[in-house]
Amino acid sequence: MRSSRVLALTFLLVPLTAPAVTVSTPQGPSEVFARGDLLDVVALLRLAGAEVQFAPAAGSYNAAAAGHEVQFTPGGSLAVVDGKLTPLPGPLRLVDGHVVGSLATVGALLGPFGWTANGSAAAPELARVGGTEQVELSVVRAPTGTTLVLRGTRQRPRVTTLPGLVMLLFPEPVALARPVQPAGEVLAGELDGATLTVRLAAGIEVASSYPLEDPPRFVLRLAKSEPAAPLVRPKGGPLVVLDPGHGGEDLGARGPAGESEKAVTLAVAQATAARLQAAGVTVRLTRDGDEMVALTDRTALANRLQAAVFLSIHVNASPARGAHGAETYYMSVDASDPQAAQAAARENASAAPDTVQLILWDLAHVANLNSSARLARAVQERLNALQGIRDRGIRQAPFVVLTGATMPSALVEVGFLSNAQEASRLLTSDTQEQVAGAMAEAILEFLRATMPGPAGTSAPSP
Ligand SMILES: [Zn+2]
Repeated sequence: MRSSRVLALTFLLVPLTAPAVTVSTPQGPSEVFARGDLLDVVALLRLAGAEVQFAPAAGSYNAAAAGHEVQFTPGGSLAVVDGKLTPLPGPLRLVDGHVVGSLATVGALLGPFGWTANGSAAAPELARVGGTEQVELSVVRAPTGTTLVLRGTRQRPRVTTLPGLVMLLFPEPVALARPVQPAGEVLAGELDGATLTVRLAAGIEVASSYPLEDPPRFVLRLAKSEPAAPLVRPKGGPLVVLDPGHGGEDLGARGPAGESEKAVTLAVAQATAARLQAAGVTVRLTRDGDEMVALTDRTALANRLQAAVFLSIHVNASPARGAHGAETYYMSVDASDPQAAQAAARENASAAPDTVQLILWDLAHVANLNSSARLARAVQERLNALQGIRDRGIRQAPFVVLTGATMPSALVEVGFLSNAQEASRLLTSDTQEQVAGAMAEAILEFLRATMPGPAGTSAPSP
């Protein structure tokens, strides 16, 4: 009753003011409530894609989009933008149940979400800052192979590959600055909103993809698709897949003198392989040289070979320069502690973890968790003994390289490259051999415990 009287009264008092204005937006025109030159703030935020909610307890509104948050209160001239108190060009008022503000105030509230408010109060225009990103895909052919280089965006698209096809799924729609030019292995490219589909020549696939900075680029390395590895399971013997971390452009952690993790992991993996082979175990490495291998391809190899063990070998880095010694991890969706989460974030840098994939992994492979924990513990204990560390336990974290492994799997950081002393030791073949010896022993111990009988690892049967 009261509100209708107020409404009637305001119409009498402000007869020349239209109750609504037409706002132009990228999606087309839209009507919002207005009073004089004050515009409906909540309606405009929603037109810009923000989710706006009223918190009755606080008497304030919360707008959220694209990872940003803005809180504001009718009657106030301040907003809280991503947690920081920020003055607004003018006050917000409550009129007929609508929170209204000047065009400049609306612009200040839209800014954090990447939008602007232009035009006039009578004919406001909403626009995305910078408009749609213009991206450009070029084909770079070199003797070392062909890469697709995407420029013009910091977005990290999700990469999906099918035979003869690669799809880039961007978080936000993009526009192509120019059509994709067919060249060599690339037959065609089409953009549909936020999905860029590139057709590849027969037998070509994406070997790896990774972002680069300055200027921001997203690189897809093409390679001839290799036929799936034949299932060369040696009769009766276990097969171990060792995964030297990183490789190629992916250097991994860096030491004080610029040493790269990828070289240490390869040397240690090769030394471990030699020791296991000497004990009768068949070993395959996910890379034999300095080349980039996608994280998901590493476990895929182990799965195809029906390996008994998958061990990914890495070297750690930490801002705490005193950090030292080995750390062994096994897979989980949640990290066991903040340091474990950081280690996973660092090792996952060359691939965006797909949460859904992680959850599916968790559901499918809980059966391997106990044996993965045993494998990790065997490795950690041997390395503790070697490095004179007493009681360092095993940890859990969501490492992409371990997702999808259908066998007991673990990731070991054999030491810290960020620790100058440890780095200089890890670069010597003596230390690499010692570490390899400890890890080979641990794997043999694990195999003996889990696969009694044949294996060439257990005591010869009578
Ligand atoms: Zn690493």
